[in-house]
Amino acid sequence: MKTVDHIYINGRFIKPHGTEIFELVNPSTRTVIGKVTLADEQDAQAAIAAAKAAYKSFSQTTKEQRMAYLQRLHDAVAARSDELRETMIEEYGGPYRTSSATTQRAANSFLQARELLKTFDFVKHVGISKVVLEPLGVVGLITPWNANYGFICSKLAMAIAAGSTAVIKPSELSSLQTQLLTECLHAAGLPAGVFNIVTGRGATVGAEITRHPDIAKISFTGSTDVGKTIARGAVDTMKRVTLELGGKSPNVILDDADLEQAIPVAIAAATVNSGQACMAGTRLIVPASRLDEVKRLAAKAMQALQVGDPHNPDTAIGPMVSQTQYDRVQRYIRLGVEEGAELLVGGAGHPAGLDQGYFVQPTVFANVTMDMRIAKEEIFGPVLVILSYATEEEAIDIANDTVYGLHAFVSSADVGRANKVAARIVAGRVFINGMYDEPRAPFGGFKQSGIGREFGTYGLEAYLEPKAVMGHG
Ligand code: NAD
Repeated sequence: MKTVDHIYINGRFIKPHGTEIFELVNPSTRTVIGKVTLADEQDAQAAIAAAKAAYKSFSQTTKEQRMAYLQRLHDAVAARSDELRETMIEEYGGPYRTSSATTQRAANSFLQARELLKTFDFVKHVGISKVVLEPLGVVGLITPWNANYGFICSKLAMAIAAGSTAVIKPSELSSLQTQLLTECLHAAGLPAGVFNIVTGRGATVGAEITRHPDIAKISFTGSTDVGKTIARGAVDTMKRVTLELGGKSPNVILDDADLEQAIPVAIAAATVNSGQACMAGTRLIVPASRLDEVKRLAAKAMQALQVGDPHNPDTAIGPMVSQTQYDRVQRYIRLGVEEGAELLVGGAGHPAGLDQGYFVQPTVFANVTMDMRIAKEEIFGPVLVILSYATEEEAIDIANDTVYGLHAFVSSADVGRANKVAARIVAGRVFINGMYDEPRAPFGGFKQSGIGREFGTYGLEAYLEPKAVMGHG
């Protein structure tokens, strides 16, 4: 049993003012593995005060100094990557491969920010004015549980690159992971107060960060509902917001696609991170003329995925993170049946022999139409719906018939044709004939998938405010 009874403020691990105890459960076994004392509003205020005090000098550092800090942060996180991965597997149930990738990506985000700074110009000249890109103040970083290290590190890396100081509020479900990550970040030896980490409830710590006048910007990753609450709360103090929210990403298979190649990719895209991923390609949009073939291949590919012990490197799908998340996925699977969709693979209940944890059956529904809730709402589990179309125009309409616009996938034997379709899909990222990782490309959504972009130059500029200085000589 592990105990997390410290928060991190002003370069020190201190006891929180908050007293609520939250139990941490291993989702693979349902056993209680730890207890965390949650921070409260007063802790958030102390963290904000520390970040504000540190901002005075940190905002004046040179980019070379910040590049050196970013290198140290990378090294400190990379040095403990095995422990970080193991803790992610234990507390979150992330399959070994996902947990390794997330841990590496987290460390690398500091290097990417460092690399970006090498060529980034904070001063530009426009006519008679000098335009200086300045950090916009103390930032609040609010993150979800599904890739805890990834979100904390990528947001913190950009905040530091910009010269901002930060108050970080991770999900309480990730407390063991956050504690270990905080030890790593602390070991990098940055000036006290540059980053402060206070794990607590969204309604207390998150809400305090959202309303506090000394926070200039919030970068939030999480659900669309909470994103809306934050946007409403942020407007009173005119905070800048970057919101990375939910998705229901379409995967359009054109009629000339090589299905033997495209369908296994589609299954991987739908079940990435055990389906607990905002980017998951959960709506498979296929030509009616090839529906039978698609159903056969989708069923085969889904059934081939190994579900179970996340420590096993061959496992593709681990447990859902919590009882709440397990129940949610079960509800949607039952709803799909009630709505009249054809259950092709999976169904409600645990996979055989896996009732000791929050394991769900990877599920595929066919004969789905866009009026069904399983086609519209984000399920956040390994559940794929198959929709069919008669014409390419109809395929594009179905792809765009959603309040979300995060990611999209297109498959075709003709890359030119795929690009034309990609151009008409309303989504922040479109993947053609595969699934790729490019951390320098912008990440974010159209419509209710959010506001703003992270990663690369766009991500850095989201932490900067332009100031025009004229008559500077
Ligand atoms: P969530 O929205 O419930 O919580 C996210 C964070 O917000 C948590 O730290 C939570 O404590 C905090 N929070 C909750 N209420 C708050 C409030 N009133 N004020 C301030 N903060 C508050 O999301 P979750 O369940 O942790 O994560 C799953 C969701 O995240 C899914 O909808 C998923 O699509 C989304 N997500 C989006 C991206 C992206 O990049 N677009 C990536 C991963 C996850």
